[in-house]
Amino acid sequence: MLDQTPKEIAERKALRINPLKTCQPVGALYAALGVRRCMPHSHGSQGCVSYHRTFLTRHFKEPAVASSSSFTEGASVFGGGANLRSSVKNIFDLYDPDIIAVHTTCLSETIGDDLNAYILEMEIPDDKLVVHCNTPSYVGSHVTGHANMVAGFIKYLADKRAPKNDRIGVFPGFVNPGDIRELKRLLGLMGLPFIMLPDQTGVLDGPMTGVYEMYPDGGTTIDEIRALGGARMALALGEFASTEPALALKTKCGVDSKVMPLPFGVAMTDSFLMALSEISGNPVPRELEEERGRLVDLMLDANPYFYDRSCAIFGDPDTVLGLASLALELGLRPRFLVTGTPGEAFEKRGSALLGSHGALGGARVRAAGDLFELHQWIKNEPVDLLIGTSYGKQLAKAENVPFVRAGFPILDRYGHAYQPLIGYEGAIKLAIKIADAIMDRMDRDCADEDLELVM
Ligand code: SF4
Repeated sequence: MLDQTPKEIAERKALRINPLKTCQPVGALYAALGVRRCMPHSHGSQGCVSYHRTFLTRHFKEPAVASSSSFTEGASVFGGGANLRSSVKNIFDLYDPDIIAVHTTCLSETIGDDLNAYILEMEIPDDKLVVHCNTPSYVGSHVTGHANMVAGFIKYLADKRAPKNDRIGVFPGFVNPGDIRELKRLLGLMGLPFIMLPDQTGVLDGPMTGVYEMYPDGGTTIDEIRALGGARMALALGEFASTEPALALKTKCGVDSKVMPLPFGVAMTDSFLMALSEISGNPVPRELEEERGRLVDLMLDANPYFYDRSCAIFGDPDTVLGLASLALELGLRPRFLVTGTPGEAFEKRGSALLGSHGALGGARVRAAGDLFELHQWIKNEPVDLLIGTSYGKQLAKAENVPFVRAGFPILDRYGHAYQPLIGYEGAIKLAIKIADAIMDRMDRDCADEDLELVM
């Protein structure tokens, strides 16, 4: 399928082939689904929201509910204010959410619709809320859109007069509900009360009950978002997805945040738990020490199969950096780190991470990259393992490379949204998957007389 990808690399500027990102509203919609009884609303044409919903549904295998301002030619020329007013009225009348979270699209951004003014001027029922954020898709990526929507909730709702409380805010970044469940478990074990924003557990990984609920029993409540204004502090996990919400909370309510990497692997999970220990004054419980011990034991046992194997990792920036950190701890040798999300910071962080393990020599780290380029690099320097989203499967097949699925989106397998990648438990699951992929390949390639039953 990708046989025509040439080995020779030509300079490209205004062209992406097999991009590694999608548009900002996908992230904004996902963030809005993590607020209780919230209807995400796409201010643009129907085609946009239809794509965004399909994209999320394919990953989560759950319906991703959202509405649209349904722009036609008139709104495109004269502005979408009237469409938004009618939409908001109809949504509250028909679907009765507590809050509507509006995000813009390329079209409404290009014609310059002023969402602030529209929302200030429109009639909103007393017990209902409308918030918005700007998500022009010609900048950033779905990760940026997620950050903007979370910041939007804070700008509208966090209350600087909220009573001081003993909770910390936690911005989990662009991760799966499985990761958020794991974060909540870790926070609970550390005895630290928290407000998670957003929280898609119970919404996009809800149980089958036989009854369709438009607003499943999950998500951050509006009162919790208000109370963020009185929180002790916030932990912003993932620099690329969570810095914006941290800044918004500081600006609006004066609450400080600590921006940290997503807790992937040993070192990053250690730092996360030490931060929780420092904030709470509680020691790390034995249960977590044992989990860490199990992870380290597994890493040592399987080290001969990890050691010095080269790999390429691609996906969202915070996830790629986390996966790279775990890969280095396992003894793998990351040669290529690629994200589709723009931003020099990714290249700096990735290079610094590889450099800190003495693994930078000849490795490439690329932001705003694409899979075509990664394929060309791999053609020139084959790797032993590919780690990333479903979009890597053709590349893995074309180059006959073992492939481990991790990140967003996973469109061609089931259950990934349930599985945490973070924490020691997430690292154990990932390490097992990586070892399986490498060892399956060895079994397939070896001579019959070398096929070992016991490793
Ligand atoms: S037009 Fe813009 S907002 Fe709509 S789907 Fe395309 S990139 Fe996304």
